[in-house]
Formats: sequence, C-alpha cells, structure tokens
Amino acid sequence: MSAPAQAPGFRNYGAGARAAVHELYRLNHTLQTLDFVRAQKRKYLTRDRRRMTAWEALELVETLVDDSDPDIELGQIEHALQTAEAIRAAGHPRWFVVTGLVHDLGKVLCSFGEPQWAVVGDTFPVGCAFQPSVVLHELFADNPDTRVALYSTRLGIYEEGCGLDQVEMSWGHDEYLYQVVRDRLPPEALAIIRYHSFYAAHREGDYGFLMNARDREQLEWVRAFNPYDLYSKSPVRPDRRALEPYYRDLLAEFFPEPLRF
Ligand code: FE
Ligand code: FE
Repeated sequence: MSAPAQAPGFRNYGAGARAAVHELYRLNHTLQTLDFVRAQKRKYLTRDRRRMTAWEALELVETLVDDSDPDIELGQIEHALQTAEAIRAAGHPRWFVVTGLVHDLGKVLCSFGEPQWAVVGDTFPVGCAFQPSVVLHELFADNPDTRVALYSTRLGIYEEGCGLDQVEMSWGHDEYLYQVVRDRLPPEALAIIRYHSFYAAHREGDYGFLMNARDREQLEWVRAFNPYDLYSKSPVRPDRRALEPYYRDLLAEFFPEPLRF
C-alpha cells in the first residue's frame, strides 16, 4: 500500500503549539470520564437531531476550526477534500476515498452546542487507567476517574483481550460518526472512522491488552489511513468547485439516503 512520505513536522505538542491546543486538552483530559461518555451516548445515539446528506454535513462542519490540531488553520471541508484526494491519488478503492472525505463529519457535534473538548482531539479508553502513551498525559491529574480505584487499574472495568468494541472511548467525533454511518460502510472504513484519533494505539502501539485479533487486523487500516489524514495537510487550498461533482457522486453511491444525526 502506498502512502505519502512521512513529514517530520506534524503533531508537535511542545512549547510552540498554540495555547488553544493545550487548553483543549486540559479540559478534555479533566472532563472525559466514564460517566460523561455514557451520558453523551445516551444523549446522542438517539440520532433524532437532524437529517442531512453527507454533503450538507460537510458544509456544516466547514466553518469549524479544530483547536486540537496544531498543524492547520484550513476549513474542515478543505481538510476532507485534501485527505480524500490524497487517498484517490494513491489509487485506493472508492470506499477508502469516501472514508477520507467523511472521516471528520462527526464534528457536526459542535453545531449541536458541544464544546471542542467533547468533539475533537486524540481519543483514549475510559474506565481504566489513562496510559502515559496518551498525548499530554500529565493533564489527566484532575480527572475524577483517577480517584476511582477500579478505573485506575490497567484493565479497569474491562477484561484482558475483550476487544475494543467492548471499550468505552473518550467521547468525540470519531465514535459519533461511527454510530451514524455504521450500516453504510465496510468494517475497515468503520474502524478508520472510529479509531482514527486513537493515537495511543495506532501510533504508540499501546492498549494491546484491550484488543482482540480482529482489532489488531483493523488497526492496520487505521494506520494506513493516518498519513493521508495528517500529511495531506497543506496550506494549498483544494479546488472545491472542480472536485465537487466527483465527490457528490461518490457520496450518493455510499449514502443514497440522508444521514440521521
Ligand atoms: Fe478526526
Ligand atoms: Fe481529519
């Protein structure tokens, strides 16, 4: 599988990162608890808020800036098009291209009034100890779950090798979009959508103790996707007008009906 060359300058969360990134993770790591995740699932998995086509959802997220991303100031639709175009240029199948286009559509959560810390940023399991492999791990210090004995062990509420499907991930655009499109895309695409922000696993190789054999297979697709998400980020704006007909067709193929958000 071909991937763009790995550029070294991305995901730098050190001193130079925007203050907004640090503040986002301070809130995210303090407030993402098991109870919070379960409450957000109860709230959003009713999926009775809005019906819209995938293209309408793209236009809705276009205006949002992702505070968790130290690398880019482009609009979301441009990030979607850049990601999809990079995947298409590499000759991957249409399901992979459409996955690149829609992977961040869960950010419509912002338009429902959710703060950025509950929408974007790296994701991680809750209900078990927050591993040092999670970005800005020191910011978990004030998370109330660190004072719950059961949630502070390596396995927490889970069993060894239980499978990620059994694991509650911090709430955000990944899990939400997975739930919205789960009947419409192949399993590899769903793994990409659901775990693309789980850097502690797909980048750092951690949390294997919660995975089963299927997860390990699917994680290879998440890894294959990541360079397109990350290294296609460029300040050169894609020609939206020229690309729109192709992508409207592609979306109509995979999502003939409006999506339920
Ligand atoms: Fe994302
Ligand atoms: Fe993305």
